[in-house]
Formats: sequence, structure tokens, C-alpha cells
Amino acid sequence: MPAKPKLAVSGLKSYYFTEKGIVKAVDGINFQLSGDESLGIVGESACGKSTLGATLMCSMQQPGKITGGSVILGDTDILEMPISEFNSKIRWKKVAMVFQGAMNALDPVYTVGSQLMEVLKEHHYNGNIEEKISESLRQVGLDRSVAKRYPHELSGGMKQRVVIAMALLLEPDLLIADEPTTALDVLVQSQIIRLLKRLRKEKGITIVLISHDLALVSQIADKIGIMYAGQLVEVGSAGEIYRNPKHPYTQALIAAVPRLRSKEKKINFVKGSPPSLLDPPPGCRFYERCPHAMDACKKQDPPEFQTETGYVRCLLHDDKSET
Ligand code: SF4
Repeated sequence: MPAKPKLAVSGLKSYYFTEKGIVKAVDGINFQLSGDESLGIVGESACGKSTLGATLMCSMQQPGKITGGSVILGDTDILEMPISEFNSKIRWKKVAMVFQGAMNALDPVYTVGSQLMEVLKEHHYNGNIEEKISESLRQVGLDRSVAKRYPHELSGGMKQRVVIAMALLLEPDLLIADEPTTALDVLVQSQIIRLLKRLRKEKGITIVLISHDLALVSQIADKIGIMYAGQLVEVGSAGEIYRNPKHPYTQALIAAVPRLRSKEKKINFVKGSPPSLLDPPPGCRFYERCPHAMDACKKQDPPEFQTETGYVRCLLHDDKSET
């Protein structure tokens, strides 16, 4: 019998109810993760990646609302819980998130130590708080003296480490990191990715890494989910996605990654732009940009067709059985 997944997401939907209409930012997402597997969610800006992260963290704000599906962590569907119970039992303790731009949200008038202490006190931590703070800083590669410093005294990379230390304070099983390296230079980016890799190995945590950068994500992810216009159009092992991408959008994304040793001087960008999520077209959402589009693609929203390690939502693969 296959092992029970640690995280199982099914039919997940989150919409924004705006004056102009309903924005279907997350529209039927499915994936599963076992053990300490990590997942990279990759897609263009405004494809719904950050909304997916906020949904997994039950942090949707008005006018956004989770409208369907389930997020089963272990044995519990966290979407079925009252939010007060989620906040006291799950948030920080089992699921934590590094939100996009979180390092800039550190409070400038409090030291790093007092901000870490606040999280521990709020969750009634009953160990030695000072030791816990020093240990948390040490595990992200910072000296304990950083606890006495204010955010403006730290570099961008140090602030991002503080934010990661904060997310891991209560030793969650699942860490969602939304663009954790944006606004950092390339060297610091690679240090943060190495840090996440090490923490994952040492602590056995499951990481969901959200990014627009496929090359960066592939350094850490066992599985990759390619997101397009509110849907995961392809999910598979990182190796399969890179070696044998099946969805035309995945193929275009990989072709757009510049290669240092390639003789090709031009960057192959993905032409066109994604459809509005306010009123997504009825058929395949990639139709207008797809070099293989067929008449049927305009009428039918492609279901999930099983692949070796995941699935693909493209009618070119309709000879295979649906998941
Ligand atoms: Fe292209 Fe059709 Fe596949 Fe959509 S379903 S990606 S339009 S071939």
C-alpha cells in the first residue's frame, strides 16, 4: 500500500470577489507530498502562486475567500477547522510561512530578539526563551548577538535569515516560502537556497517553495508544479519536468532559461500574456499562446492526464488515462 501523503491538496479554489467580478486566482489545484518531499511552484507573475501560498496557510484576506477543496495535513483537513483552532494548533506549530517581502515587514522599532520572543510568548512556549532564540539564529547561520540588533542594522540576506528563523521557531512540519530570495543578489540567493536545503535535511520539514524562477526552484525541489492562470498545468518530479516537459507552457518556460554554454544568443521568451483571471476562457487557458493549439482546446478545459511522476493538463496527452 502506498504511504499516506503528508500533505494532500485536492480541488483547491480561492477566489477574489471584486466589484468587477470574480477573480479565479486558484482554480482547482491538486498535489500530494510525502515525507520531507519539497515542491516548487513556478509560474509567471499574477498566475495565482502567492494566493495558493496564502490559501495553504489559511491566510486569505477580504475580498479573497477559499471557495472549495481540501488541504489535508496528516489526518486533518485544515480548511474544515474554525480559524481560531487553526491559529492556536496549526499556524507556526505545524505550518509556517515566509511571506513575500516579509523581511521588509520586520518591525523597525523592535530588536530581532524581541520580535522572536513575541512569537514564542504568543504561543505559550514554556522552554528557555533566550536559549531558543539563540538556537534559532544559530540554525540559520546567524550569531546570537543578532538578537540585540534592529532590522535596519542587518543586510537583506541577514533579514531574510531572521524571517526564516522566525517561521521555524515552533518547528513546523511544513514551511511555505513565497519568493524568499526576491530582491536579494545572486550570491545571497544561493546562500538562502542552501540554507533551506540544509534545514530540510536536518529537520525533515516539507518545503513548498513559490517562485517565478524555475532554475532556482530546481535546486531544492523534488517535485515541481507549473502554475498557469490559476491552475497547475503540469506536476512531476524535478528530473522529469526538466528532462521531458510535457505541457507546451512548461516546454516554453524551460526553453526560456538562458544557458551559459549554449551558442544560442537569443533568449526564447514565452510570447503573449496570460488570460485575465477575472473571466478566464472556457477551454484551455494557454490556448492563445500555445503553438500546438487545436479546435478542441478552445472548448474543453483539459483534465489531468497521468504522467510517470505526476500529471499534465493538455489535450495532446488525451490518449492516457485521466487521474
Ligand atoms: Fe495547447 Fe491544447 Fe494543450 Fe492547451 S490543451 S496546452 S492549447 S495543445
